[in-house]
Amino acid sequence: MSRIKGNLIIPSHSELKHFDLPSDNFFIGPYLILIMCKSNLEHYEPPDKTKSPKFIKSEVLRDLNSRRARIVIDPSIKDTLNLVAGQNLESTVSKLCSFPNRHSKSQNIHHVSDWLLNELKNIGYDGTFFHKYSQDGFDLENVISNKNGSTEGNNGESMLLCAHYDTILKQNGDDIVSKAPGANDNASGVAALLEIARVIYPLSLGRNIQFAFFSGEEQGLWGSTHYAHYMKDKGLNLHTVVNMDMCGEPGFLPSNTTTYIDIDDGQTGIVSTNNEASKNFGLIMQGLANTYTNIDTLFDPIDASDYMPFEARGYVCIGAYDGSAISTNLHYHDKSDTIENIDFGFLSEVTKMVLAFILTEAR
Ligand SMILES: [Zn+2]
Repeated sequence: MSRIKGNLIIPSHSELKHFDLPSDNFFIGPYLILIMCKSNLEHYEPPDKTKSPKFIKSEVLRDLNSRRARIVIDPSIKDTLNLVAGQNLESTVSKLCSFPNRHSKSQNIHHVSDWLLNELKNIGYDGTFFHKYSQDGFDLENVISNKNGSTEGNNGESMLLCAHYDTILKQNGDDIVSKAPGANDNASGVAALLEIARVIYPLSLGRNIQFAFFSGEEQGLWGSTHYAHYMKDKGLNLHTVVNMDMCGEPGFLPSNTTTYIDIDDGQTGIVSTNNEASKNFGLIMQGLANTYTNIDTLFDPIDASDYMPFEARGYVCIGAYDGSAISTNLHYHDKSDTIENIDFGFLSEVTKMVLAFILTEAR
């Protein structure tokens, strides 16, 4: 396990011990740097949201409840949100569930990434590409698409919108054969991202928007860890990371129309300098949900999903999550995580909430 100090990731002594360094002192400097570059990614456990903290820190909640974001209705945002089509969400979830599974150690995962790449290209995103990485002997890819912003003066900060497309079964995490539809976890998030990508494609926005579809999430945030490392290594600034993971199965929170907005309340993240911005963006997203959608929102600490490697590098993270990863939900990481459990009306509203956030912050 790596120790993480500020924005620097430092391999622990035991990690360094594993490497056979060449005996020739002349080469030891550059060789060591090369090894550290390849090996300095932190490790995450396979995410299990049933073990995540359920409550925001009380002092943070008091603070959030004492201030609300003031949102003025913008007719152009309202018009754009009306373009979100539940039918598109449904057909994406249906398509993703039609693969036998989307396990990151199975060949299926590459068929899914090919399909995603083509979907984005068909919308018109010519700059769509595979961000390839290797972990534990598996060659995998994240699917990345860029929508360039039109204005200067935002420090080149992109908004990163992400969701994982892989699946896993709780009975056996290495079962790469059995059917694993993963309708809510996380075809729902992928469908929302694709729909947002479709709706905003013709719009002129100020900021760059980047869509990232990650593999290897269920193995321990593999894809997002490699991508967050790549972004930080390139010195790329991000305005926010917005993660969508499990967004379409309501009923596990106080009402059938309640969703969580995940924020960094300092309980689960490593870096403290990004907490305040995360809370502020959470308040804005909540205000937008109140203004433009018919869903209610609660705050929840970010945890056990693809925002964590970004948080560890100091980026500001928020997320949308339906709260359904609890032990009483038998569908979680199960073959019964099927399209029948998805409430597409609810998923449409969550998609609109995130889209309203993009439109507000990227204008
Ligand atoms: Zn997930």
